[in-house]
Amino acid sequence: MNTKLQTPIDYLKGVGPNRADLLRKELGIFTYQDLINLFPNRYLDRTQYYKISQLQRNNADVQILGRLVGFKEVTQGKKKRLVGTFKDDTGAMELVWFRGYKWIKESVKLNTDYVIFGKTNWFNGVFNMPHPEMELLSEHEKNLRSAMQPVYPSTEKLSNKGITNRVMSKIMQQLFLETQGKFEETLSEPLLKELKLLSKAEALFNVHFPKNQELLARAQFRLKFEELFYIQLQLILKNLIHKSKIKGFTFDKVGTHFNTFFKHHLPFNLTGAQKRVIKEIRADLGSNAQMNRLLQGDVGSGKTIVALMSMLIALDNGFQACLMAPTEILAIQHYNGLTELCTDLNITIKLLTGSTTTSERKDIHNTLEDGSLHILVGTHALLEDKVKFKNLGLAIIDEQHRFGVAQRSKLWHKNTSPPHILVMTATPIPRTLAMSVYGDLDISIIDELPPGRQPIKTVHRYDTNRLKVLKFIKDEIDKGRQIYIVYPLIQESENMDYKDLMDGYESIARDFPAPKYQISIVHGQMKPADKDYEMQRFISGETQIMVATTVIEVGVNVPNASVMIIESAERFGLSQLHQLRGRVGRGAEQSYCILMTSHKLSNDSKTRLETMVKTSDGFEIAEVDLKLRGPGDIMGTQQSGVLNLKIADIIKDNDILKLARYHAMTILKTDPRLIQPEHRVILNTYQQLSKYKNIWNYIS
Ligand code: ADP
Ligand code: MG
Repeated sequence: MNTKLQTPIDYLKGVGPNRADLLRKELGIFTYQDLINLFPNRYLDRTQYYKISQLQRNNADVQILGRLVGFKEVTQGKKKRLVGTFKDDTGAMELVWFRGYKWIKESVKLNTDYVIFGKTNWFNGVFNMPHPEMELLSEHEKNLRSAMQPVYPSTEKLSNKGITNRVMSKIMQQLFLETQGKFEETLSEPLLKELKLLSKAEALFNVHFPKNQELLARAQFRLKFEELFYIQLQLILKNLIHKSKIKGFTFDKVGTHFNTFFKHHLPFNLTGAQKRVIKEIRADLGSNAQMNRLLQGDVGSGKTIVALMSMLIALDNGFQACLMAPTEILAIQHYNGLTELCTDLNITIKLLTGSTTTSERKDIHNTLEDGSLHILVGTHALLEDKVKFKNLGLAIIDEQHRFGVAQRSKLWHKNTSPPHILVMTATPIPRTLAMSVYGDLDISIIDELPPGRQPIKTVHRYDTNRLKVLKFIKDEIDKGRQIYIVYPLIQESENMDYKDLMDGYESIARDFPAPKYQISIVHGQMKPADKDYEMQRFISGETQIMVATTVIEVGVNVPNASVMIIESAERFGLSQLHQLRGRVGRGAEQSYCILMTSHKLSNDSKTRLETMVKTSDGFEIAEVDLKLRGPGDIMGTQQSGVLNLKIADIIKDNDILKLARYHAMTILKTDPRLIQPEHRVILNTYQQLSKYKNIWNYIS
């Protein structure tokens, strides 16, 4: 450890107490170490010098050699600006300052050779450059300089107080002088060799003073790799520690239930992805560690059968299992589905929801406790303290995003040791992010749809084309299909949305009059019993149209519904649109999703709609969503620290992330405690990073 790097930034020559204060407040730079890890946002090419006569009206960054010949202050209304006339041997232009110009006037020398750098504008017949970077030619020639000029992150306050990019570069130079550019290696020899990485010192030098494009690229690669490597190391270690500390029930046999079902009752051939995932789960259940697994699979990818087969393994080992769903409708659907699949298996399955009667409840409580009830399906009613299992071995949570961590932890205490937990979600979290965010959960992915699914045709229509859309709906209903029409319901404007929904409902009721047409309506302000009633009418085919808010977003399965109309689609997020679309395309018929919008669309809305029309791959959609919204909005990323990356980019550096994860995994596999001599450097760095929290704020 280079102890010099812990020196407070105040001590660096050229910084001093005032600048140090600013650097701390504005950029969080406390020590030399923090400064060295302030990486440039971008680089400018400073190999070219332009003549004033060569300037183009293209607003590009240019570098010009010349002299300032005079200043004038210009007042316009209340606003003042300082204008300097700058000349070279081909012409004249203006330099403009809107603030801080007292300091400029005092410190800039007239009639002296300067190199200026900045963006040029064309205004009133002359070129001007606002707030140029200026450097005396004599200094310019002396300075440690490279073709690629780094641009450091800055803030308005910093530039107002004279800490310009040029000053930052100088401070950085000073840092390299004082440390002599010596930085200890933080990756192991074998890694450096295998991946042909630059040494730490070379990488840091070239990221701040790149000698050329190639070295810059290699420097960035090395530093990004390192950053992601240590995050992955931490996540994988957490996971290993969890596994060694928290013992789970070992389900070491696959017995009658599983085998009978597999041989005689499987209603279809499993997809390759389903088989792979079941294998992964079986391996987990058979080890002696408690399973904490996230099962991701797009809507309709067939997660339910995986859940059932996992539960059968629990039963074969003498344990009970439960399956929890976020809504009563979903719980009922699961209950019916599972009961049908298990008809000949001699298994007892029961349903527990808010509507379960007292006497049914009593029976459930009793049979749960004496062990004669094998599988309990239900809503969060399962979490109540009164619900006690004889021997709960596996708890499955469907559509996880509706459940909080607190609820998950309640499940942990339903047995003497925590049961195995499988969380199933159709919200596709991009793999990249999942790896970083859920490093402590194991992840299985069903990335294949059952064969024979017809892709859903998705189109975008403007409100002005409503008549055609109505005609289309009529035709589909005549063919015997059912239709969803969904309205947005967003909390802030709940009342207005509610009105939109009711207006929509009324106009649909006019266009589709009873008795020929029957319409269901479901929204959040209805009583649960009324909701269920309306929902059941649609499920049974009594009604042809379901008008609803997003309450139907999750899991509902009505195979005969083949058209999804989404009103004001521009107001929905991408993943929500995708979830809604997943309600259709569940039967044999061609299905459609129609996105209705007004003509007024923001760029982001356009991108969302285009993405929906273009692809139905949930993971691709999740990637676009991530790009549009940034990781901050996506569930779970807030605490994970992926936002605090200093140089790597969680989206763009996906490949480096995978590489880093692979190597972290490989190293920990052979040497989980990092005690081999060649891993000492990794252990040291890791411990340093965990010690200096301000550097290592990735990990919660
Ligand atoms: P989800 O992952 O959205 O929960 P489901 O488990 O509800 O998906 O499955 C969606 C539909 O696909 C169900 O009707 C189910 O019976 C069917 N299905 C699941 N796996 C297969 C398969 N391997 N082959 C054919 N159909 C399947
Ligand atoms: Mg499901």
